[in-house]
Amino acid sequence: MARVLEGKRINEQILAELKPRVEHLAKTRRPPGIAVVLVGHDPGSEIYVRNKVKTCADLGIHSEKLTPPEDITTGELLAIIDDLNNRPDLDGILVQMPLPKQVDSRQVLLAIHPSKDVDGFHPFNVGQLVLNAPAPRACTPAGIMEMLRRSEIPVQGKKAVMVGRSDIVGKPMAFLLLHAHATVTICHSKTSNLSEECRRADILLAAMGKAALLTAEHIRPGAVVVDVGMNRVTDRDEVARIWRNDPAKLAVLEQKGSVLVGDVNPLDMAELSSAYTPVPGGVGPLTIAMLMANTVASAEARLK
Ligand code: NDP
Repeated sequence: MARVLEGKRINEQILAELKPRVEHLAKTRRPPGIAVVLVGHDPGSEIYVRNKVKTCADLGIHSEKLTPPEDITTGELLAIIDDLNNRPDLDGILVQMPLPKQVDSRQVLLAIHPSKDVDGFHPFNVGQLVLNAPAPRACTPAGIMEMLRRSEIPVQGKKAVMVGRSDIVGKPMAFLLLHAHATVTICHSKTSNLSEECRRADILLAAMGKAALLTAEHIRPGAVVVDVGMNRVTDRDEVARIWRNDPAKLAVLEQKGSVLVGDVNPLDMAELSSAYTPVPGGVGPLTIAMLMANTVASAEARLK
């Protein structure tokens, strides 16, 4: 029987550990502070930002939400970032992606001061990651490392296969695993014989954004599987195929119009792995916990 790696429980542990650190800062200096910049009205982004602001409030972190208009120019957004960089009461700046087309996202990312880059996306912090030097780490990969550690899943000497090479998940994840002494393979859309590569893995990680693409043929029996993907399936045949005609899932589709699934087939993963992260409730909650951890660490470093 596979172990279910519950991100929600680990999220609660991490937040509980952060709380006294936030209280100490608030008592001795000032509470940690974060600015969240949300351009436009993307419904997905609005939900993410609402969750982040709520988690800050629960922890006692000061948060500010800035909502510039959808038609903002790159120059205007850079001026806002400049202002936030110079605010001594702020430790983190988070610009919710995606930005509207007319804005140069790369320039905006570069403008955030590395010490306030709590997402860990700035090239300086990416360089620090490659060098295994201290800096804020990308939240989703950092959360996964925290989960593996707290679940006592050994990484050293293990074969890890990361499917996906994005700047926000795949690449930073691969470096964190490498620094933890795994032997790491990175796969992507041009990898030949993906299933063969995946079957080598003691730890298989998927971040592709492709609904249930990895199946039994990709999973070595007994492997640990970490599923980062978040996909909404709306097609009835696909839901039936993925969940082998499970009436409960078909009922969810009827009710809600879509069913959430990761990048790994959930039934195959539960049957073959020794431990796995469910979707939802696995990796998702860790990302926000690590954002809070990065913000608190940034405040501690600034106020030391
Ligand atoms: P990107 O679209 O930026 O990257 C996807 C990666 O998957 C690319 O490297 C791509 O390869 C690779 N890929 C695509 N198709 C295949 C295929 N058929 N075989 C092998 N590799 C393939 O996605 P992200 O990394 O941003 O996100 C991935 C998923 O994780 C999404 O579902 C996203 O919603 C989810 N996510 C979840 C988070 C959470 O907190 N739970 C946080 C962040 C993301 P190539 O480079 O060759 O194009």
